[in-house]
Amino acid sequence: MKRRVHVLGTGGTIAGAQPDPGHYGYTAAQFGIDWLLNAVPGLDRLATLSGEQVVNIGSQDMDDGIWLQLARRVNEVLASPATDAALITHGTDTLEETGYFLSLVTASDKPVVMVGSMRPATAISADGPANIYNGVAVAADPRACRRGTLIVLNDEIHHARNAVKTGTSNPSAFSSMSRGLAGITSAGRVEWFEREPHPIGGPPRFDVGGLESLPRVDILHAHANMSIDLIDAAIAGGARGIVVAGVGAGNMSARAIERLARAAQHGTVVVRSSRVVSAMVLRNAELDDDGLGFVAAGDLNAAKSRALLALALTRTSDPQHVQSMFDQN
Ligand code: GLU
Repeated sequence: MKRRVHVLGTGGTIAGAQPDPGHYGYTAAQFGIDWLLNAVPGLDRLATLSGEQVVNIGSQDMDDGIWLQLARRVNEVLASPATDAALITHGTDTLEETGYFLSLVTASDKPVVMVGSMRPATAISADGPANIYNGVAVAADPRACRRGTLIVLNDEIHHARNAVKTGTSNPSAFSSMSRGLAGITSAGRVEWFEREPHPIGGPPRFDVGGLESLPRVDILHAHANMSIDLIDAAIAGGARGIVVAGVGAGNMSARAIERLARAAQHGTVVVRSSRVVSAMVLRNAELDDDGLGFVAAGDLNAAKSRALLALALTRTSDPQHVQSMFDQN
């Protein structure tokens, strides 16, 4: 029997319309999920499909409320014996963090696969249909179980935990950096690089079933001449956590360190990540995290660190406890 894949549409360029093929201007999130699926020939050979529209937005407008709505829907759909896998269409701008968030909150071993595209649905050589085709093939593959959320684009299968958007226009816009791809896929054929699945971003640790919102976490970008004004603004605005996209291995100006250490003493959880695309932020290397009360993000970038910290803060404000959650990821 064919595997049953339920598709959840959220918008993005994959659902976008480009009125003039000779001009790159376009509007994201113009087509619904049924239109997108009907535009892909032969999908019914891969799986039995059903679909629903969760939202239809450019993923720059993704927020914590929609994350919780989407997570609850994914968990409901996968809890049903009538569904073998979920496929989510999504804009590429925030695909990596939505995917990682879902890895942390999905209460099922069944595959969760996300697809986007770099070219709008009406563009010449639109990449969306091939990505949907390959995404359905991956979702329908029983070997995709227990691998955390997967992202399929440009014939590549990424663990959402590792994927980073590294380009803004080329269809080859995602990289899994030094951790590498989960596999490759072409014309519906799927090759896994690790035969034995193992949970990435899981096992599920956060139950979001009863959550109406997530604690506020702000990201601050470190740079030469960094002041403390935006740190003050984040705290005044109610942030319970701050992620610094630090220079180098999670560094920042002396005055920023001093201000954030004071914030940490007063209960704000401060995570040091990096603005460097291929980064490893180790604890107690150049900075004394123990003394300052900071958390080191390892190789989780700032956007993914925000997702994990927001979920961690639903349980604890103890930086050591939060550090242990980052260490497990
Ligand atoms: N801003 C759009 C989005 O993220 C465009 C990026 C894309 O989908 O490729 O939804």
